[in-house]
Amino acid sequence: MSRVAFIGLGNMGGGMAANQVKAGHQVQAFDLNAQALARAHGAGCTVAETAALAVAEAEVVITMLPAGAHVRQVFADSVLPHAQRGALLIDCSTIDVDSARAVGAQAKAAGFDFADAPVSGGIAAAEAGSLTFMVGCDEALFPKVEQALAPMAKAVVHAGEAGAGQAAKICNNMVLGVSMLGVCEAFALAEKLGLAADKFYDIASKSSGQCWSITSYCPWPGVGPASPADKGYEGGFLSALMLKDLKLAQEAAARAGAATPLGAQAEAMYALFDRLGFGGKDFSAVLQLMRGRLDELDETVRGGG
Ligand code: NAD
Repeated sequence: MSRVAFIGLGNMGGGMAANQVKAGHQVQAFDLNAQALARAHGAGCTVAETAALAVAEAEVVITMLPAGAHVRQVFADSVLPHAQRGALLIDCSTIDVDSARAVGAQAKAAGFDFADAPVSGGIAAAEAGSLTFMVGCDEALFPKVEQALAPMAKAVVHAGEAGAGQAAKICNNMVLGVSMLGVCEAFALAEKLGLAADKFYDIASKSSGQCWSITSYCPWPGVGPASPADKGYEGGFLSALMLKDLKLAQEAAARAGAATPLGAQAEAMYALFDRLGFGGKDFSAVLQLMRGRLDELDETVRGGG
């Protein structure tokens, strides 16, 4: 049993903290949101009054916060000044590579072990303990990080040094955003050409166009295995979060001098979709934009992103 501090108990962190409790760890939880804290309490966490108090006696500190600014602030104000010597600090949020590297360097300078460990998998995987973690940390530290993440994980992969976890996450999600748009465009063209969606699926899923966005997450309702498209594009991975990750990829590309024209186009498409009010829909719902059939999306979620 370890003493774990968990900061950020939202959609993802709530389920992740609960899995730390299920694994037998003592979890001190903190969030700015009272509802999130009440849920964590219900899952067996001890509620701390401040982030500083949550981390004070922890052997492992895990953060799951919205963006880089939140992570920088929580580390500067609460974690680094108040965590005990020897604590392992792991940030699981999806943030910009520069913030991950900066926080990692500050943690190292203060004498802590640090890993950036963003996740693949949504809220359901967070609750089921089946997330994939992409870890940036010193090679020698990785086994310790892997052990700390195990109660929440299906897989824990070492990506490289500090910041490499975030780099892996945004590169993976750029592939996903671009491939989903390509698949949606192809389904929209197939429709115009009079090719039935299920026939196109059968053929493309056995041909060179095959990819995860077709065979595991088909955007056309009623075609392929169950996916958010079959549930009115509810649940799944929100378009607003895809937009966030594509923005992070573009920022990183600009700083690194990488050419990512398709990533830029994907960001523009998801920005438009969000602007139209569909940020709260699954990212595969962009199919209906390509078809010119936004009327098929539930109007009630407009503005939800
Ligand atoms: P969320 O908004 O539901 O949760 C974030 C929580 O952080 C909130 O409860 C908020 O109150 C809390 N918080 C913000 N500032 C704080 C502070 N200073 N101190 C303490 N608590 C603070 O977001 P989420 O969906 O849980 O996502 C968390 C992270 O995981 C994000 O970086 C997101 O990009 C990433 N992610 C999300 C998903 C998903 O499907 N939701 C999937 C993969 C990765």
